[in-house]
Amino acid sequence: MKIEKYIRDIQGFPKEGILFKDITPLLINPEARTNCLRILVDSLEGKKIDKVVGAESRGFFFGTLLAQELNAGFVPVRKPKKLPYDTISASYELEYGSDSLEMHTDAIKKGDRVLIHDDVLATGGTAKAVCELVEKLGGEIVQCNFLMELTFLNGREKIKEYPVFAALTY
Ligand code: AMP
Repeated sequence: MKIEKYIRDIQGFPKEGILFKDITPLLINPEARTNCLRILVDSLEGKKIDKVVGAESRGFFFGTLLAQELNAGFVPVRKPKKLPYDTISASYELEYGSDSLEMHTDAIKKGDRVLIHDDVLATGGTAKAVCELVEKLGGEIVQCNFLMELTFLNGREKIKEYPVFAALTY
């Protein structure tokens, strides 16, 4: 079964010039979802993971499935002011200006082996900020994995010190 069949391209969403990769057809199909999860888990080659860190918001879907499968904790990284407890934050550049992401201060323990997950690796700014948060709390990044990598945006370059895996590349 080819999982690329379950990624829908939406031209011009959320704004002109963007080809949005919609994962809802993948989420709605249990067989495709299981297959995709298997590909992501297999890429870890049995490596022990203590925490899976998912980036808001589409990183939460497969992030929690991965955590369940790996018997690991799940940690949400969120946009500013969404998390209720004490947080640390990291900024990243956008096309115009910058934004930041937050994580709870007690989410990662020193020495935790961490898998970072998001749906799409584009410019790599989001993933880089998530890596910074994990390392601030002393976590060890085992892999950054994605459902898709948009290779023409060179996101891999921003997180080149970590192993990177993407189930699909465009
Ligand atoms: P970046 O920080 O540029 O690597 O962007 C990655 C984040 O933006 C991820 O959380 C994605 O969900 C989202 N994203 C970026 N480009 C796309 C795209 N073409 N389709 C869907 N989501 C995208």
